[in-house]
Amino acid sequence: MSNLEDLYREIILDHYRSPRNRGELPTPPAHKVEGFNPLCGDEVTVYLDVQDGVLKDIKMTGHGCSISQSSSSLMSGAVKGKPLEQVQATIDTFKQLMTVHESSLSKDVERDDEVDLRKLGELAALQGVVKFPVRIKCAVLAWNTLRQGLEEIASPL
Ligand code: ZN
Repeated sequence: MSNLEDLYREIILDHYRSPRNRGELPTPPAHKVEGFNPLCGDEVTVYLDVQDGVLKDIKMTGHGCSISQSSSSLMSGAVKGKPLEQVQATIDTFKQLMTVHESSLSKDVERDDEVDLRKLGELAALQGVVKFPVRIKCAVLAWNTLRQGLEEIASPL
């Protein structure tokens, strides 16, 4: 188990030090959306290029703690180039991962494995975050921002 935790820690640090899909996209055509986590001071700006129901490209900038920044990097790799239904499904699965742990911790019981970790790939590295509930907001910041951006694209003002 500790080997797995070491591996997860390595993945998080690697994405923190060398974030993937870092940068900006020209707006328009890309859509820009910003997220902020006041509890920790994390900031993330997400640029989304959606064409024909596919998230063609995603880039992001931001700064903050290692959890928020590595989570956004991991997220970008997981959703880039994917159809929007699949992007939504990945968002749902990740948020479920963060919630299941939280509730099972508070009840002090073994969690039943509702989340299929194999579907998450490297994202599973972030599951340790739920041992520190205050950090969950750091981990889900980029995901909430992505979801907000997709909603804005779906129903422009
Ligand atoms: Zn944070």
